[in-house]
Amino acid sequence: MDSPKRVYVDFDDVLSETARAITEVVAERFDKRVPFEDLKHYDLDKSFGLTRPELADLMGLLHQPEMLSAMAVVDSAAAVLDEWTRQGCSICVVTGRPPSSVKASLEWLGRNGIGFEEVIFVDKYGRSPDTHGGIRAWSLDELKRESFCLAVEDSPDMADFLADTMGVPVALLDQPWNAGRCAAAEAGGRLVRCSGWDEVKKRFPSPGAAQGISAGAACA
Ligand SMILES: [Mg+2]
Repeated sequence: MDSPKRVYVDFDDVLSETARAITEVVAERFDKRVPFEDLKHYDLDKSFGLTRPELADLMGLLHQPEMLSAMAVVDSAAAVLDEWTRQGCSICVVTGRPPSSVKASLEWLGRNGIGFEEVIFVDKYGRSPDTHGGIRAWSLDELKRESFCLAVEDSPDMADFLADTMGVPVALLDQPWNAGRCAAAEAGGRLVRCSGWDEVKKRFPSPGAAQGISAGAACA
């Protein structure tokens, strides 16, 4: 399954504008209005000041197929992945969504023209492992055994895990919740901050060559 040009691509807030959609749901459901720029925490309960029951309610809403289907696609993501695929890269979407989201997630990827080779569900944040339709969420230990020549993420914790534990070069998409985070990986040249997919493409024109980063995981 491993490919020398296998690229890890996160889903939420890397391919889909998930946080922007969540701000609208939270405003409507809980009457809490938090500007996107003020989402300083990756944890939704902290960013929105939600109680545990409210958070449980929100998570249920977020995983509804209608909600997942309505999310906008992040600018330039499809074009950059197409270009990498033409170069021979294998795009692996690695998501922290539960496997129960598989149908809506695959439909969304198809509808938004996101080319990919495989989708892996990973229990990235220590939530209850979930199995659905024979698909099981992988643990981080299982993910650790995989090889990637580049990862595109927005989660600071996952970015640190990829860069430091797995030795994978990381393009971290700038988001309010990762500002000021991952400083050690960035200083060590294992992680590059990017303002969006256009910058990811500039910094990593050929991911198989792991250009623009000094991490030791370069794989041509
Ligand atoms: Mg994400």
